[in-house]
Amino acid sequence: MGAKHVCFTCRQAFNVPYGAVGPVKCPRCAGALTILPHRFRPPKKREDEKWNAAQYLVEQGFCYEHISPAAELTKRSEAQANYVPYPENLREAREFVQQYRAFAKKP
Ligand SMILES: [Zn+2]
Repeated sequence: MGAKHVCFTCRQAFNVPYGAVGPVKCPRCAGALTILPHRFRPPKKREDEKWNAAQYLVEQGFCYEHISPAAELTKRSEAQANYVPYPENLREAREFVQQYRAFAKKP
């Protein structure tokens, strides 16, 4: 398990093994890469909607960490089954951000 270093400009993700530093700048555009957990599934290059949604979510502080609204109410094993899936289009992403605002990580 490692991380994904993502360039939203080039719409490219680089797999970086756990513990490795990996590229911190995009080899193509030299822009800063966004580091996301391995569970982030990079869309295909032409899937504009999914890339836009992903970028929006990251900008809003949702970096593909698990969100489990029921975690405080249930045992951990049950909570894991309740992870909220991340949306794949901008409309759903906006609703998602509204609904789970409390879980956002602000820099
Ligand atoms: Zn780039």
